[in-house]
Amino acid sequence: MQQIAIFGGTFDPIHWGHLLVAETALHQVSLDQVIWLPSLNPPHKQAALFEHRVEMLQRATEDHPAFTVSLIELNRSGMSYAINSLTDLSAFYPNTHWYWIIGLDAFQTLPRWYRGYELAQMCDWLIAPRLLGGETIAQSELICKQVEQQLQNQSSTIHWQFLNIPLVGVSSSLIRQCIRKNHSIRYLVPESVRSYITAHQLYSNKSE
Ligand code: ATP
Repeated sequence: MQQIAIFGGTFDPIHWGHLLVAETALHQVSLDQVIWLPSLNPPHKQAALFEHRVEMLQRATEDHPAFTVSLIELNRSGMSYAINSLTDLSAFYPNTHWYWIIGLDAFQTLPRWYRGYELAQMCDWLIAPRLLGGETIAQSELICKQVEQQLQNQSSTIHWQFLNIPLVGVSSSLIRQCIRKNHSIRYLVPESVRSYITAHQLYSNKSE
């Protein structure tokens, strides 16, 4: 049975934090593949055009043999819901043990996701530590256990583990903010992404 992880997100834009998380997941649980899943219509966010976000993802991941960018969300209209994407992808990749890669901030919200209780038990969860408010790893673990408890209260079970990565403070919002303030984003995103952002004047006041 092959082992595949989905890494869902807005990726607006993709940054080195995302790439480090995916690479760590690949090796920590011996994955065959990481499928990057950009959301077409993220439920709680306004984002740059899907085409731009996809292009940046493709540029950033093209030299990695185990990274794939999925456009499966284009097949569906309406909001992007993780459980629908996992169901659709399962049809394309039979005989697969599924994982979902997620940052601690997003994992915290899982019990509130559309059919989150069902989704929780459809895959194993690989959680990237993320600074939310200066908490330690022990506190982060407590947060995950609380999520687990909330799910158990609804008779849902979940398997999760932390990814062994150093905390990386970079976020897409930080990058967008840097661009608006005319600060450099070199070394925060791959060069191919940086040049794409410049060429299309993304995230600046002059944005398309
Ligand atoms: P924004 O700042 O716009 O909220 P983001 O940087 O969190 O964006 P997303 O595309 O929303 O990027 O993130 C996709 C997934 O990657 C989420 O599960 C998020 O928690 C995780 N993630 C993003 N950046 C990091 C990071 N630096 N460390 C760990 N996880 C991260």
